[in-house]
Amino acid sequence: MPDDLYQRYMAAHRANQEHAAACFTCTGTARCPAGQRLYDRFAVLQDAYLAAQKKRRP
Ligand SMILES: [Zn+2]
Repeated sequence: MPDDLYQRYMAAHRANQEHAAACFTCTGTARCPAGQRLYDRFAVLQDAYLAAQKKRRP
C-alpha cells in the first residue's frame, strides 16, 4: 500500500534525524553503526517511495 510505504519512509526519516541530533558520533560525513543502520533503512525506503511515485505518474 503506497500510503503505508510513505508512513514508513517518514518514520525512517524522523528516526534518522532524531538519532543524528542526539548522537555525538554521527556527523555529516561519518556515522556510528546504529546511525548507519537507520540511514540505510531510510535510503532503501526513500528509493522505494520515489520509485512508487514515478510509477504513479499520469
Ligand atoms: Zn550515531
